[in-house]
Amino acid sequence: MQIDILTIFPSFFDQFLRHGMVRVARRSGRLDVRISDLRAFAEDRHRTVDDRPYGGGPGMLLKPEPVFRAMDLLGLDPGKQPAAGTVPLLMCPQGQKMGQKDLEDFSGAERLVILCGRYEGYDERIVEAYPWKRVSLGDYVLSGGEVAAMALIEGTVRLLPGVLGDEESALRDSFGEWTGPEGLDHAHWTRPPQYRGRGVPEVLLSGDHGAIEKWRRENSGQQGPGHRDAVTGNSGNPASDGGSPDRNQDGVSQEEIPGE
Ligand code: SAM
Repeated sequence: MQIDILTIFPSFFDQFLRHGMVRVARRSGRLDVRISDLRAFAEDRHRTVDDRPYGGGPGMLLKPEPVFRAMDLLGLDPGKQPAAGTVPLLMCPQGQKMGQKDLEDFSGAERLVILCGRYEGYDERIVEAYPWKRVSLGDYVLSGGEVAAMALIEGTVRLLPGVLGDEESALRDSFGEWTGPEGLDHAHWTRPPQYRGRGVPEVLLSGDHGAIEKWRRENSGQQGPGHRDAVTGNSGNPASDGGSPDRNQDGVSQEEIPGE
């Protein structure tokens, strides 16, 4: 998969691209990320990318020229459909709230082109000119689209075939095949079996795989409305320790990934 990111803050992505599954995907050749610095497409010597809104009002807007010029270079023509397999994504609070199903769809694309807004948003001609899928991270306003783009990329990339060490782990995640689209993952424990007076449910130590699977099914969020509370520690489960801040994501510790 190729991902093009258009941003006025390319360095936001420096560390992001060097960690976790995004790094794994890049190093294995499954992901190619290219960043377009919108300031490089500005037309004046101050590299201006913003301007005041017509009609007055607070704040500035992302100017059309740098975006159109960057898109030209990426081969996306205004008013035309992009090449098959290319999905242009506009990060904005007005977009559709991103869900796991969207990430699954994105992971099937050959190329994502992601525009990160700033300021009060976009000159509307940017919005009109391309067949964007408008994506929102949630019903709140961030200062820019970069964090939303990172969330989208991180959630998408871990779904690319071969990126997760254990393919089953994505299937068993919340909203996955195992839990169902509304479902939530069950709680997890690791060693030691006792820590600061907190234990682990006996069944998980039993070695009885059938009983363990049954326990996990019963303790995952498949029970419909209210299941989020049931799964997230308001269940009164005495073994819950509130989670460990050191827990590795996706089953791969940073140490297992060779340095860049
Ligand atoms: N004036 C806009 C509004 O009220 O909807 C907010 C603009 S926001 C300060 C600047 C940029 O941050 C947006 O153009 C968008 O790219 C990004 N952004 C802010 N909140 C976002 C969200 N919830 N989801 C995705 N992108 C967001």
